Amino acid sequence: MNASDVADRLAAAKLWLVSQSAGDLPYLSTAVYSLTTVISDRVAMMTTDPYWRLYVNPSWVAATDVQRVAQEVGHQVWHLLADHAGRAQDAGVSADTRDRWKLGSDISVGEVLPWYDPRLPPPGPLHFPPNLSAEEYYLRLRARPVTEEPLASDPDETCGSGCDGMARDHDLLPGDDLVPGLSTQAAEAIRKRVAIEFREHQASRGSVPGEWERWVSNILDPVVPWNQVLHAAVRRGVGWGQGQVDYTYSKISRRQHAIGAAVIPAMRRPVPAVAVVVDTSGSIDDGLLSQAMGEVRSVLTSLAVPDSNVTVLAVDAAVQTVSRVRDVRDVRLAGGGGTDMAMGIHAALAGKPPPQTVIVLTDGYTPWPDTPSPVPVIAGVLGRVREQLPDTPEWVQRVEVVPDGWR
Ligand SMILES: [Zn+2]
Repeated sequence: MNASDVADRLAAAKLWLVSQSAGDLPYLSTAVYSLTTVISDRVAMMTTDPYWRLYVNPSWVAATDVQRVAQEVGHQVWHLLADHAGRAQDAGVSADTRDRWKLGSDISVGEVLPWYDPRLPPPGPLHFPPNLSAEEYYLRLRARPVTEEPLASDPDETCGSGCDGMARDHDLLPGDDLVPGLSTQAAEAIRKRVAIEFREHQASRGSVPGEWERWVSNILDPVVPWNQVLHAAVRRGVGWGQGQVDYTYSKISRRQHAIGAAVIPAMRRPVPAVAVVVDTSGSIDDGLLSQAMGEVRSVLTSLAVPDSNVTVLAVDAAVQTVSRVRDVRDVRLAGGGGTDMAMGIHAALAGKPPPQTVIVLTDGYTPWPDTPSPVPVIAGVLGRVREQLPDTPEWVQRVEVVPDGWR
């Protein structure tokens, strides 16, 4: 089966999934048409990564009927919509516990799909209540003695890094030249769109499994305090840099999907270096800036990032310079506007050691670099409640920091 046959069959599967006559999940169409297909002999069936790349084994697609292929797409895409990869990191899932995370998140996905898939077991036989979150199933599974009952095994590894955030050796690098995948911000936009359509669709049909009702309201009516969001963003940024998906490929291995050879990436776990770039323009609220910086400090401490690896750079609007300061307490707000955070990010990336994560604290009224940064950039955009804060580039992980702690 050649690549265009695979594409045709996948197109038929996606159509089956979203069309009224068959799967009838019209709200999934934004999501399934945002997937990028990567043909790979190195996956058994079909799997995803957190960048919405769908790795597909061409022989499996050829040998499997369209409806079954469609159901697998539905399964995979709900892992991405639910951000099970990011949540696995937040839940502290490790190589030792990822089988339980997989099972917990699969139970949850099984509850939102309108068909029965034996690979996505219902909670009943495990004596779990229905409609729990992936985290709640995971904790219950972790509490079970391993001897009690064999956990569902997944010899085909259908759920990859798109489910648990742990990179597999068939995964392309984030931002791969040929198949870059989606940014965090693009993925968030898809989730929002699907959540709106899912809510509308369910309104006319009735019941929504509890976990997925929570998913919709978390996306559409978020009430999460900014410090929690910032905390999670920094944790993930440093996590990426620290080795969870940090592997050193040779140049040729980046073309693995083209050459099909097995590549074992070399893992390394550096002590992360972090740069914090602070806007000193007059509209920045001093107290809020200190709070944001305090939050950043506490996450970095909890991640055991030594102070010596944290560089704080103050971008001065008046003289357009970037200076290194000992702490945010030493940042003097210069007043006026016109700060250029692109300059600050550029200076941060040139630091020694180069940072694995750049955190920018700004009012958002600034130019940004024209090209995406090679490392995660988190922007804490400081402003007032219900204020329309300025846009940030798509490749920046944005956190709106507003004084009362609620959006
Ligand atoms: Zn799964």
